[in-house]
Amino acid sequence: MFKVLVADEIKNLVEPAQLTDLDITWLAADEPTPKGDWVALVPLLSRWVGGTELKNLPNLRIVANVAVGYNNVDVVAAELRGVIVTNTPGVLTEATADLAWALILATARRLVEGADLVRSGKWTGWHPEQLLGLELCGRTLGLFGAGRIGQAVGRRAPAFGLRILYSARSPKPEFENETGAARVDTSRLLAESDIVSLHVPSSPETKGIINRETLARMKRGAILINTSRGDLIREEALALALEQGHLGGAGLDVYAEEPTIHPRLLAAPRTVLLPHIGSATEETRRKMAAIAIENVQAVLNGKPPLTPVYGQV
Ligand code: NAP
Repeated sequence: MFKVLVADEIKNLVEPAQLTDLDITWLAADEPTPKGDWVALVPLLSRWVGGTELKNLPNLRIVANVAVGYNNVDVVAAELRGVIVTNTPGVLTEATADLAWALILATARRLVEGADLVRSGKWTGWHPEQLLGLELCGRTLGLFGAGRIGQAVGRRAPAFGLRILYSARSPKPEFENETGAARVDTSRLLAESDIVSLHVPSSPETKGIINRETLARMKRGAILINTSRGDLIREEALALALEQGHLGGAGLDVYAEEPTIHPRLLAAPRTVLLPHIGSATEETRRKMAAIAIENVQAVLNGKPPLTPVYGQV
C-alpha cells in the first residue's frame, strides 16, 4: 500500500475503484500539510507546496495538483528534489470557456444590476434608457493568452459577431484559420479590444500585468474579464478604473488573495464577481479528480505521469 495525502474535498468526486493500493490520508483544506513518509500529495490549488512542505515529506514522489494552473506549487524546488508535479489540463477547458462567456454576457448586459433591481421591488417598468449595455456584434474581443481555454473562448466568439485579436508567445495558425483571429502585441490588444479576456497562467512575467498603466491603455468603456488567476490584476487599480468610469465593467472569477476580495473592488461599480467556479461542473470536477489520481497511480507504479507540468511553462 502506498501512503498518499489527498485533499478531503475531492473525496466524493473520485471513483473508489481508482484508489486500489492507496493508503489515503484525507487532508482538509484548512489543515496544514503534515510531516511524514507519504509518497504522493494531491492538493487543491489553495494549498501552497513549497520548499518547507517538500522537505517535510522526504519520501514524496509526486504532487498531483487538482487544477490546470500550478502556481501553488514551487515547481523548481520540486524538480530539485526529484518530485514530479502534474496538473489537469484539457478536461476543464470547455467548462471554463463557458464561464468566461457567462461573465462576458453578464458584464456587457449588466445582468447582476438587472437581477438586483427586479428582486429589490424597485423596478418601475420598461424604460428606453434603463441598464444600457455593450452590444457585442461588431465589437472586438481581445484574448490575452490563447492556449486551450483562450482558444475555446475565441471559438465561441464568431457566433456573437465579434472580431478576435489575441496575444500569445507563439502564433496559432489553426485557430486563426478557424476563427479569423489575428495575433497582435499586448499594446494593440489593449488599445483595440472592447472586451479583454485573460487566459495566461500566473507566472513572474504575467503577475500584475493588468495595472494602472495597462488599464489606462484600454479603450474607454471596455470590459475586463478574468477567469485565469487573480494576481494577474492589480485590484486597487482596477477598482479605480471602474470608479472613474474608464472601464465599462469587470467580470471576475478569481482574485489575488482568495477568498478575500479587495474592499475597493467589492464596492466598485459595474462588476460581476464570482467565487472561482470556472471549472465547476459535475463532469469536469470528476475528470479533474480522476486525472490527479491516475497520475499518482502511474508514478507510484513506475510509469510516466500522464500530465506532467514540466515543459508546459
Ligand atoms: P495554456 O493552454 O497553457 O494556455 C496559456 C496561454 O498563455 C498560452 O497561449 C501561452 O502562450 C500564453 N502565455 C503564457 N505566458 C505568456 C506570456 N508571458 N505572455 C503572453 N502569453 C503567455 O493554459 P489553459 O489551460 O488555457 O489555462 C490558462 C489558465 O487558466 C491556467 O493557468 C489557470 O490558471 C486558469 N484556469 C482557471 C480556472 C478557473 O476556475 N477560473 C479554470 C481553469 C484554468 P503559448 O501558447 O504561445 O505558449
